[in-house]
Amino acid sequence: MHPEMPPIGFGLWKIPREDTAASVVEAIRAGYRHFDSAADYANEVETGEGLAQAISEGLVTRDDLWVTSKLWNTFHAPEHVEEACRKSLADLQLDYLDLYLIHFPIALEYVPIDTRYPPEWLYDPDAPDDGPDAGMKRAAVPLHETWKAMEALVDKGLVKEIGVCNYNSALIHDLMTYARIKPSMLQIEAHPYLTQDKLIRLAEDYGIDVTAFSPLGAQSYFELGMAEARESLLGTAPVMVAAQANGKTSAQVLLRWAVQRGTSIIPKTTKPERMQENLAIDDFELTQLEMAAISSLNENRRFNDPGVFAEAAFGTFNPIYD
Ligand code: NAP
Repeated sequence: MHPEMPPIGFGLWKIPREDTAASVVEAIRAGYRHFDSAADYANEVETGEGLAQAISEGLVTRDDLWVTSKLWNTFHAPEHVEEACRKSLADLQLDYLDLYLIHFPIALEYVPIDTRYPPEWLYDPDAPDDGPDAGMKRAAVPLHETWKAMEALVDKGLVKEIGVCNYNSALIHDLMTYARIKPSMLQIEAHPYLTQDKLIRLAEDYGIDVTAFSPLGAQSYFELGMAEARESLLGTAPVMVAAQANGKTSAQVLLRWAVQRGTSIIPKTTKPERMQENLAIDDFELTQLEMAAISSLNENRRFNDPGVFAEAAFGTFNPIYD
């Protein structure tokens, strides 16, 4: 576990812009001090409004908060990394980030902020289907150059720590050979259907802390058509048995399982009662048997896979894990 980052953060992906500021203030009232943001979530301005409101109302100080943001794929070229970071800082109304992560190990062609922001996955959404700019446009930027530019952000005091998301073991090995400033965090999809034991063990070996995204598994992916109803973890036997035995909800069991195996979590919700529910996991402990039964659900089922969704949505085959 990271020594300073609160182990339960508030995820901001897919919170509608119009609800974001209020959700951030509500989450702070509920007790969240860690926010997981990203340029790509298209709600950093509203996240900044919520943070500023909570600070101005005296609910928290900046020092009480841990704010993470992420470098989008179109800003990997070293000359664009600081520009992207400063844009997130301005939108969030902050003068430093606690943690800045490379969002995906995929470099895409630069799209100027004035042209479209956030740029999402496409260089030009209006490009003709058969033209050179159709689909995703890869950029020839090695990850070690992007990392060097990330290190410069630490040197300049714009970010306290840097890390990566969605890296596999091979990329971690490689990163550790050239990193002058070591990554403090690896953020990856992890839940009982995708336990990622080897990757988590490797990160531990290198002294990199791990944050599990989508800790509730399929729940986040139904609305995107990227998971089937039968893939929900909430109704699986080991989760329900543990929930009943501990007087907790299935969601709380999934979150507790994640924290108990040493990963931080960043569950997202727009519902105030769930904000409380997802934080209230400190008052019980899963037994070794319960932990093992839940872990045995593993199917290596990845819901967030560019190798699948990029082809379905943009017609570009772009796997990164295989
Ligand atoms: P998640 O937090 O596991 O699940 C969110 C979904 O579960 C929402 O549909 C939410 O619905 C529902 N939910 C929340 N609490 C619940 C509860 N107690 N009981 C039942 N349902 C509940 O998934 P996520 O949003 O994909 O992942 C969390 C965060 O990780 C994201 O918000 C983002 O910050 C980060 N993330 C990072 C990456 C990356 O590439 N680095 C990728 C994905 C996500 P309601 O809102 O209706 O409650």
